Amino acid sequence: MDNNNSSGTADLYAADGGYASKDVCYNNDPNLFETTVEPLLAPGREADLCEWLKKNGLIAKEQKCSNNECSATEKMQWHRARVVDKFNWVCLECKKKLPARHSSFFSDFKCELGYALKVIDGWCKNIPLTNVGGEGRTKANVAKRIYNGCTQVAEWQLKKMVTDFKLGGPDVVVIVDIFPDGNMSLEVPTTSHNNNFSKRVLCIADTAHVPVRVWASLLDGSNKENYKILEMVKNHVMQGSTIVTNEILYPLLHNLPGIGEVISTEALMNLDINQDQKSLKNLETIWATTVEACIQLQDMSTTQAEQHLYELQWRQMYGFIAFPSIIQQIVEYTAYHNPICPPLPSIWPSN
Ligand SMILES: [Zn+2]
Repeated sequence: MDNNNSSGTADLYAADGGYASKDVCYNNDPNLFETTVEPLLAPGREADLCEWLKKNGLIAKEQKCSNNECSATEKMQWHRARVVDKFNWVCLECKKKLPARHSSFFSDFKCELGYALKVIDGWCKNIPLTNVGGEGRTKANVAKRIYNGCTQVAEWQLKKMVTDFKLGGPDVVVIVDIFPDGNMSLEVPTTSHNNNFSKRVLCIADTAHVPVRVWASLLDGSNKENYKILEMVKNHVMQGSTIVTNEILYPLLHNLPGIGEVISTEALMNLDINQDQKSLKNLETIWATTVEACIQLQDMSTTQAEQHLYELQWRQMYGFIAFPSIIQQIVEYTAYHNPICPPLPSIWPSN
């Protein structure tokens, strides 16, 4: 399964000063937050929560004193303290202190660790920000930044695997369509939007996955667009796939080498009994979340819109085990961006 693709990389970081070590016990429990994390958020269980965070690589298991003038040879000591995390690291030699969350994903967020985990869970469940923020403008702000952090991790994860993000395969039906021109929705609410969907999106769906796995990319409307669409289809649809596409794209795609068969949605609809639009209704179900995302991104900047499409793809891939997945990826992301981490093998893309 794809969600295990990156688990081997955890070992790459084993030499980074105990940040994420080999005995990380990731699991695929979709209810990990409810069964394991939520009970640790009760008052008085901060020590257990920190142990869980350490065990899972979310905060460091050990720290060395970072004071250049300090001659301490021993590692820093874990101490209970009157700070937001209830614990910190203390150097026995020079008394330097480091927060429990030092150089972790949480270090940028001024809130309790438990609150951050609750917000991460909210992001996983795709709960609107206004419903997870909690009271006060500061909290809402922190929640927004945590949501952005999760989206960044999701984008990083998707970009990391973009080279092998291939859809379809022999005899697998892959649908290629464009929002809003094609057949992704029976009734695209064109009037509900004041700029008439200025952002068009090429969407490719692999129907062999449940839910459907989608790859999507913004189109720029340039005169080279057809060439770009062809390249994207060639790069992301595997040989031997059967392509179902709209009437506009059909002439462009029907001679694509290596593709098993190309069928237009029009031809598909002709097979429907009694003109009941069954094919179109099926397509509408397949594209439901993608169409929703394509509508949402109309109001965003290009960068945000691209990020939103990565998030859509992430949710379709990891949605069922979102919390354990994002936790694992946060650990890998943090280790990757941590300057004390050893250099990564060159197989990794530079972005
Ligand atoms: Zn020291």
